[in-house]
Formats: sequence, C-alpha cells, structure tokens
Amino acid sequence: MTSLDIAHENRTPAPARKADARTRLVGLTRPQLAAALKDFGIPENQCRMRAGQIWNGIYHRGLTSFEGMTTLSKELRGKLNEAFDLSRLEIVTEQKSVDGTRKWLLRLPGEKPGVPGPEIETVYIPEEGRGTLCVSSQVGCTLTCSFCHTGTQKLVRNLTAGEIVGQIMIARDALGEWPDGGRNSEDRLITNIVLMGMGEPLYNFDNVRDALEVVSDGEGLSLSKRRITLSTSGVVPMIEKTGAEIGCMLAISLHAVNDETRNKLVPLNKKYPIKELLEACRNYPGVSNARRITFEYVMLKGVNDSLEDAKALVRLLKHIPAKINLIPFNPWPGSPYECSDWETIEKFADVVNRAGYASPVRTPRGRDIMAACGQLKSETVKQRASERIREARTEA
Ligand code: SAH
Ligand code: SF4
Repeated sequence: MTSLDIAHENRTPAPARKADARTRLVGLTRPQLAAALKDFGIPENQCRMRAGQIWNGIYHRGLTSFEGMTTLSKELRGKLNEAFDLSRLEIVTEQKSVDGTRKWLLRLPGEKPGVPGPEIETVYIPEEGRGTLCVSSQVGCTLTCSFCHTGTQKLVRNLTAGEIVGQIMIARDALGEWPDGGRNSEDRLITNIVLMGMGEPLYNFDNVRDALEVVSDGEGLSLSKRRITLSTSGVVPMIEKTGAEIGCMLAISLHAVNDETRNKLVPLNKKYPIKELLEACRNYPGVSNARRITFEYVMLKGVNDSLEDAKALVRLLKHIPAKINLIPFNPWPGSPYECSDWETIEKFADVVNRAGYASPVRTPRGRDIMAACGQLKSETVKQRASERIREARTEA
C-alpha cells in the first residue's frame, strides 16, 4: 500500500444531488420525530410507538429507506417514503492513512437546487481496544486560533443536528458496524466520539446538544455520554450549560499558561481569560476524579514548551480533576509555527508525569492524509492561509 491510499477521489465539483423537498429525519430527537409523524397525520396515540419503530430502523439497523422497516405496513412505508428522507450525506472522498486512520470529506446539502453544499471532514482513529470518531460541528470557524488550519477558514455555517449525527452514520456504514452487517454489538469499532473536528461546538450549542441526545440514546447508536468528549476553545458562558444539558466529557484547548501567550494562540482568551476559564472548569457539573476534564496543550517550539511552562501548567491545574493531553503540533501549509523537538516534549511530559498525570502525549495520527488535529479544512471557502494568519495576528 502506498502511504496514501485514496479509496475514491472525486475532487472535481460533483453535480449537486437533486433537491429533495422531503423532511430529513436523521438528527431529530425522539420528541421531534414523534411531532413530525403527528404533523404527517399519524394518529396521536400511535406517534410514540411509530417513532420507536422508525428510530430502531434508522439508528439501530442503519436503514436508509423505510423499505426494510417491516414492522410498518407496506402502505405506510410507501407514504413515509414520499414525505421523509433518510439518505446519507454525500461522500466526496474517503482516504485511508498507513496507520489505519480514515478521513471522509462529506458534502452537505446545498441551500439552493443545483448549488453544491459546503464540505466537512470526519476522521476515524482506530487504536488498541478502542476507536475514536472525530466529528465536526461547523463548516469553518469564527475563531482564529493562530496554530489551527480550520481557523484559516471563515465560518460558512453551523451544522444541523442531522449533519452531526450523519457523520457517525457514514462512518458506521464504511466500517460495516450495523448489526445487520453481522457484527456483534459488544465488539464495537466506534467506541468514542470527540467533537474535535472543524468548528467550535459551543457556538452551535443547540444542534450539538440535540445530536448528542440522539447519539447517546440507548436504543440506537447507544454511545454513553462518558464516551463523548466535547472540546472547546473556552467559551466560558456555555460551559455550565454544557454540563447541565449535555452531560458529556469536557476538553479544554488550553495551550498556554499565561494570558499573554494564550491571547496570541487562542484569541478568544481576550474575552474569557484563563482565570475565568479555570473557574468554569472547577464548577463543571459532574466533574470528579472519575470524570476529569481533559486539558489539551499543543506543543509549539519556543512558544509554550519551556520547563517553566510545564511547571506552571501543573500548578494551574492543581485543584481541578484534570487529564493533560500534550499534542505535538501538526503543521499545515503556511502554518506559522513548528512542532517542539521530541526531546523538549519528553522533558515537558516528565514534569507533567511526575505531577501524577499519566501518558499525556497524543501521538499524531493520519498526518499523511492531513487528518490530524487542526489540519482539517474543507475546500469550500478557500482563503489564503497567510492572509488569515496575518489578520489573526493583527487581532491578537
Ligand atoms: N474548536 C474546538 C474543537 C476543535 S479543535 C477547540 O478548539 O477545542 C480540536 C483540537 O485540536 C483543539 O485542542 C485544538 O486546539 C487542536 N488543534 C488545532 N490545530 C492544531 C494543530 N495544528 N496541531 C495540533 N492540534 C491542533
Ligand atoms: Fe476554531 Fe478550535 Fe481551530 Fe480555534 S482550534 S480556530 S476554536 S476549530
């Protein structure tokens, strides 16, 4: 196998799919699904039951049409098919890294007929005993973290709940993970979900919350909230609400131990400085030693990687149930930083390890297909990276 095994490549603009006026059901929560069925004309006393049957077909069996839902009469299946759409997002390309990482470039439905929709990326990372799916929450991002490739792309739009859930459906299809595909439900390939793809999930809160409600429902995709981690650059006013209304695990993109450096790396820090951010973490609903907050720290040569930084990091997190994830910086074309030397990372990790934090360095995965953290960027709105970085720096 070559280092880049492209399963199918379709980079020339594909014709947009025929506009589909049917209502999309994927991504509706159970009450929303029951309401859609009521509007469609299902008698009120049957809505919950029908919603349960359809839910099972979509999320337990992975069906993309009503045909296979034989608990519904043939006549009803035909009518539902005319009103509702269960189809998948369109796959533009699928790439496989030498290390088994897989990346899908997906096209969202366009706003107008004939105009192709924007693109997003989803990444699957298989590891010993677990498999993590890295999901996007927005096309582009409003924030301009200076080390992040997505930050060079302006926000195009928020993903709908269906588009967030849809990424998991695509990955399950590709991995053959639906029960009808013969897999034992204990033997799962996607065991964890991280909202660490494109976008800031807390700037698309309602859709992320609804999507995670669907994903964690025990009669469907059935991924426990403890196996779902939402990563934020630090939108302080939304952190409490995340714990209260979603209840997933939290990761914070910290990346620096003082406001001066963090202002440059994560410009949102100027609005919500480190002290306020850590205060929100201390108060995160459900936080405990068994449910720690992950602090992500990207290793940037000569910027945030000194031993003093490492010691300050440990001091800063002292009274918070925390895990620390050191992320070697993943370069992208035109990126203004370099990854710290391996030796520096090891010394930094030693300080962190001695303070009681285990295995903190996250090995970069899928670098050959630009699938590693912060390398994701769709081609929808191409803006020259250098231009955006200059803008971001001026703002910082
Ligand atoms: N917007 C959210 C989630 C998406 S980014 C956030 O910022 O947390 C997911 C993680 O990748 C974040 O910790 C982010 O800081 C990190 N990241 C971004 N660019 C990176 C790069 N080039 N190398 C390594 N990590 C990067
Ligand atoms: Fe947006 Fe996160 Fe990238 Fe910052 S690191 S630009 S918040 S996606």
